[in-house]
Amino acid sequence: MTNLDYDLIIVGAGSAWYPAWMYASRYKLKNLIIGAQPGGALATSHKVENYPGTISAPGKEIMDWFKDHAEQSGSEILSELVEKVEKHEDHFHVTTATWKELKAKYVIIATGNNHRPLWAKWEQEFMGKWVSYCATCDGMFFRNRDIIMVGWWNTAITEALYLADICKKVYLVHRKDTFRAENSWVEKMKATENIELVLNEEVEEITWDALGMTWVTLKSWKQLKADWIFVAVWTIPNANIVDSLNLEKDNEWCLIVDSRQETSLKGLYAAWDITTNSNKFKQTIMSAAEWCLAANSVHEDNLR
Ligand SMILES: Cc1cc2nc3c(=O)[nH]c(=O)nc-3n(C[C@H](O)[C@H](O)[C@H](O)COP(=O)(O)OP(=O)(O)OC[C@H]3O[C@@H](n4cnc5c(N)ncnc54)[C@H](O)[C@@H]3O)c2cc1C
Repeated sequence: MTNLDYDLIIVGAGSAWYPAWMYASRYKLKNLIIGAQPGGALATSHKVENYPGTISAPGKEIMDWFKDHAEQSGSEILSELVEKVEKHEDHFHVTTATWKELKAKYVIIATGNNHRPLWAKWEQEFMGKWVSYCATCDGMFFRNRDIIMVGWWNTAITEALYLADICKKVYLVHRKDTFRAENSWVEKMKATENIELVLNEEVEEITWDALGMTWVTLKSWKQLKADWIFVAVWTIPNANIVDSLNLEKDNEWCLIVDSRQETSLKGLYAAWDITTNSNKFKQTIMSAAEWCLAANSVHEDNLR
């Protein structure tokens, strides 16, 4: 029998790893958390208004509360990137970016998503120059300036609202005239004076000179004047660390898990944005629940 370092290694420091940690520690599983960006995606959100018990707070603040709570339970944390997860007989090897190789009986991964590009020519050509994906990260550079947001889900709308507080004008460009977002956000957006909805439109091309973007031309050939374009569309699961395990995935590359959060490989569990169980409803309350469920399933397996 191999000498294992841990019962459980949890990979990902996203919005719900704290609950998994809390549960795993309460079950007295010897566990380690390895994660790169503490707090994950939610920590980048300027305002969250749908987490129970919290009327309105920055995502980072909510994540700090999660962390304070979980720290009471005690666990080890390693702030690092994981390079790969491999299975060796009845246990897993987790290799980090600094070549630490750690062995555990069970692994839970929840490495979230990456922004999905539109794959438009203008986006690929000018990425980082006049186009980016994270308004929360870059919005402050555009104080009192005009920007364009492309998207139609909650993230695009909440980020447009965030930008409206900073920028002079926000054009929200969407290829349809209906949104796949919560109505309360849509209503807030419509009531915000400096957000202009540009519907049934798509960005077609960017023209520029030595000073920056001159015009943004839309599909209808209408032109907008703006300093930057933010893109907030769909995302792709960030599951490359388990590529060599050939796990079952759906047609959107989400890991298929059963009702206990177990993947197609025994002993490997996955939670939230990278899984199918989420029903693609990517919200923190759901992710917290999946993490707890995964930790509970590890506990049940460990008793067998
Ligand atoms: C701008 C924005 C606003 C949002 N607003 C809301 C909201 O108001 N309400 C709501 O309920 N939800 C909101 N969400 C959605 C919510 O944040 C996500 O559903 C949730 O964070 C997903 O959790 P996760 O743990 O699956 O992934 P993430 O939170 O993305 O966490 C993934 C973690 O894995 C780590 N990681 C990735 N790869 C590796 C690796 N190789 N090695 C080590 N660590 C790795 C990352 O650093 C990160 O810590 C928002 C999301 C965004 C982007």
